[in-house]
Amino acid sequence: FLPHLVASMEQVDQTYIMIKPDGVQRGLVGEIISRFEKKGFLLKGLKLFECTKELAEEHYKDLREKPFFPKLIDYITSGPVVCMAWEGVGVVASARKLIGATNPLQAEPGTIRGDLAIQTGRNVVHGSDSPENGLREIELWFKEGELCQWTQVQVPWLRE
Ligand code: GDP
Ligand code: MG
Repeated sequence: FLPHLVASMEQVDQTYIMIKPDGVQRGLVGEIISRFEKKGFLLKGLKLFECTKELAEEHYKDLREKPFFPKLIDYITSGPVVCMAWEGVGVVASARKLIGATNPLQAEPGTIRGDLAIQTGRNVVHGSDSPENGLREIELWFKEGELCQWTQVQVPWLRE
């Protein structure tokens, strides 16, 4: 048995992580990527991207009726974002924990938002809230051919 075959017998999820324009402008790209990288998840896709209003609206369509929706769309389209697809067992819930609460003042120290942000409207990073939305969002933000299939050499050191 090779370790990566054992791993593949478990449910492997994918999550869409996005560094928002404030994270890019504030020079936090490396810091944020490294939190997921150090945790051990598998990076499947990565790009710097300027998104359209239409794409931002589709991404946040469940929040359409919220009073802050227009501001949210202006924020997300205010500069380049960094789009990422990460894979792993339990990656969706784990990434949400690494990111921390929506309101950075309520986010625990040690989380990305808890350490690096102060306002809900400038909370530096997005993470999918379910495996279904992870797949939906990766499909929305990445084109065919932009994701890589590869195996980390560190797998035997990450999984027993
Ligand atoms: P998330 O899953 O933790 O990102 O939070 P939600 O899905 O509830 O909201 C999506 C994003 O909308 C948040 O990350 C914030 O950027 C923004 N947002 C949510 N609530 C508010 C709010 O009350 N005011 C403002 N300005 N933005 C908000
Ligand atoms: Mg959300």
